[in-house]
Amino acid sequence: MSALERFSLDGEVAIVTGAAQGLGKQMAAALAEMGADVAIADVNAEKAERTAAELDGETDVIGVPVDVTDEASVETMVEAVTDRLGPIDVLVNNAGIVENSPAEETSFDSWRRVVAVNLDGVFLCAKHVGRQMLDREEGRIVNISSMSGFDANVPQKQASYNSTKAGVSMLTESLAVEWADRGVRVNAIAPGYMRTELVDETLEESPEMEDTWLENTPMGRLGRPEELRELVLYLASDASSYMTGSTVLIDGGYTSR
Ligand code: NAD
Repeated sequence: MSALERFSLDGEVAIVTGAAQGLGKQMAAALAEMGADVAIADVNAEKAERTAAELDGETDVIGVPVDVTDEASVETMVEAVTDRLGPIDVLVNNAGIVENSPAEETSFDSWRRVVAVNLDGVFLCAKHVGRQMLDREEGRIVNISSMSGFDANVPQKQASYNSTKAGVSMLTESLAVEWADRGVRVNAIAPGYMRTELVDETLEESPEMEDTWLENTPMGRLGRPEELRELVLYLASDASSYMTGSTVLIDGGYTSR
């Protein structure tokens, strides 16, 4: 088999959480392009349907409602995707939120909201999709961490976000070690600043932040969401068959300074 053929996802089934927009949507499009049927799983059910309709084409792309913080909702999502598309080969745990505030002023509710989506959500989806993958001894999970799990980036104050993203990388390692000899690989991607709705919201509130970000990014620009596509394909396919437990940084050099 050629190196390029090892990136094929022909006939496979993938779930991407939080894929109604942003990085998730780009990654879902890439998985579909390589042959996978894809579930766009998002708490915004209406937008998930719209995105699915936009990406539906050569392969089946469907919208599925899910709140990743709710275990029953995650179980319903797994059942719905399995019924409609078949057993799940690839899970991309992408749903995430950020709430910026100085740590000493952050309410416990805000802290818990961020932990619930960014860390509990990754655990719950990995647990329920992982069970099915372990039964079949086949599957790949890609968790979306962040460079903020490695570097307390400035000027925004986001202790909750940074902590959850560091947690995602350690959860990735833990699951990888537990499941390595049972056919399931678990890796993570840690992006730097990518221009999505999430980043636009932050910049609307504090446009001056962008200058600091650019000064601290050796490549001198933000990433484009589509620049994640090839990396997710690598980690989601047999192309990365000897890789598990890794978090790959893709940040224009930010964490290398
Ligand atoms: P985004 O806000 O554009 O999209 C996030 C999606 O997640 C939305 O569609 C939202 O509806 C969904 N979502 C939120 N809560 C959910 C829940 N409880 N259940 C299911 N879906 C839910 O964000 P993005 O910029 O595309 O970020 C995607 C991921 O990448 C996040 O995990 C984020 O932390 C990470 N990330 C982003 C950047 C960046 O610069 N954009 C950098 C590093 C990491």
